[in-house]
Parts: sequence; structure tokens; C-alpha cells
Amino acid sequence: MSAPDTAGTGRAVEISGLRKSFGANEVLRGIDFHVERGEVVCVIGPSGSGKSTLLRCVNLLEEPSAGTVRVGGVEVTDPDVDIDAVRRRIGMVFQSFNLFPHLTALGNVTIAQRKVLKRDRAEAERIARENLERVGLADKVGSYPAQLSGGQQQRVAIARALAMGPEVMLFDEPTSALDPELVGDVLGVMRGLAETGMTMLVVTHEMSFAREVADRVVFMDGGVVVEEGPPSRVIADPEHERTRGFLSRVL
Ligand code: ADP
Ligand code: MG
Repeated sequence: MSAPDTAGTGRAVEISGLRKSFGANEVLRGIDFHVERGEVVCVIGPSGSGKSTLLRCVNLLEEPSAGTVRVGGVEVTDPDVDIDAVRRRIGMVFQSFNLFPHLTALGNVTIAQRKVLKRDRAEAERIARENLERVGLADKVGSYPAQLSGGQQQRVAIARALAMGPEVMLFDEPTSALDPELVGDVLGVMRGLAETGMTMLVVTHEMSFAREVADRVVFMDGGVVVEEGPPSRVIADPEHERTRGFLSRVL
């Protein structure tokens, strides 16, 4: 097992030769890319192109068929790796918020800290309050999910991930399930997070977010990275026909 990269060297995420098949269906066909520390990388591409599978391979919700994934210099695809230790270093926010309905916002942000990180109640609640404040929900700590809007629930889910102190945050279409008027609040929180230097890998269809917040944009199609670069290039002036075709449909 690789030693933890306590010196903080190495890229936040480094993916090389990543392949993933489901039966005969090869969904990722040799992906190479990386995320530097403090960088915001947005992954765009059509439905079915393998974006979610890529994120799921980074935190080992899917087992890659070939290739390597490193997080903070540790090879997570090493068969001897401690998967729970890897997952603790990675925050994940999905399209669906998956909050516990019987717990308040505070309870939802506290539970994994207590169970996984073994923090005592007082410390876990202090950190939960800090992170709920960070996502603009200081006044909702006692609210249950059913009493919150979708955008507020997603912000609780972001606070829950942040409370674990992740080195990198993965977002998989975090605003796709939201009513349009609630999207802006969640993107605003993500933008604020980016400004604090959080390392973020974000799958999104929100092109204005990608254009304004991403350091780099990766366009995927058919399980490969077709092109990547700064948004001023990939979104404003794409090289490839497939990228132009996709953008003409979503912009
Ligand atoms: P995207 O997020 O870009 O829409 P996905 O990564 O979700 O794409 O899916 C890519 C392809 O992989 C799709 O054809 C999908 O049906 C297939 N796929 C994803 N997850 C599974 C799974 N658990 N079992 C079988 N096929 C899957
Ligand atoms: Mg997806």
C-alpha cells in the first residue's frame, strides 16, 4: 500500500489509462487527466459519455477495469489500499441529495463525522455549524429535509461533505435535479468554495459556471477525453467538431 502523501506533494487527482467496462460495454476507453491542488476542473459532455463513471472510479464506487487513479499521490487503485481511508479524503456531492429524512440539517452534517471520524458530539456539532454557515444555512440547523427546498437540501449535502475535511470535492451534476430558481444558490456556494482554494472536479451542464469558475474544462464523449483546456478555449473556441456539436446543443 502506498504511503499517505503527508508532505502534500503530488497532484490532487491523477488519472492515467483509466478504462471501465460493464460487461461488453466499454464506458471509459483510456482516460488521462489530472487535477492540480486548488484547481477547479469542470467535466462536460453528452449524457452517457462516462462522466459519472469517471467520478465513481475516483472514489472507488466503481472498480476500474484498467489504469490507475491517484488521489493526493496515493494510488487508490492499488488492490491493498484502504478504501475507507481513501473515501474519507474525497467529498462527493450527487444530483440527489440523499439526506436522512429523520435527521435535522445539523444531524445530517454530524452523523458521518461521529461514525466515521469518531469525533465527539460537541466537536462534530461545532464543525457542522461552521459548515452549515459556510453554505448559508446557519438559520436552518434545526430543520428537517422535508422543511427545506431542494437547493437548501443540496447545500446541506455540500456542508456534510465539507465537514469531513476532504482534500478534493467531486460534484456530479449537483444542480440537475433542482428547480431553475434554486440553481443559482447552489452554484453560488460552489463558486465561493472555489474561491477559498478548494480542489474541485465538477460534472456539470451549467456552461456559465464552467466558463466563469473552471480553471480547466474537459470535454468527454464516448468514453474518451476529446479535448481539454481553459474555458476560453474549450467553450469559446473549441477545436473539435464533436465539442462544437455538443456546445451548439447546450448553449
Ligand atoms: P454520463 O454520466 O456521462 O451520463 P455514465 O457514466 O452515467 O454517463 O454512463 C456511461 C455508460 O455506462 C452508459 O451507457 C450507462 O448505461 C453505462 N453504465 C453506467 N453505470 C452502469 C452500471 N452500473 N452497469 C451497467 N452499465 C452502466
Ligand atoms: Mg452522469
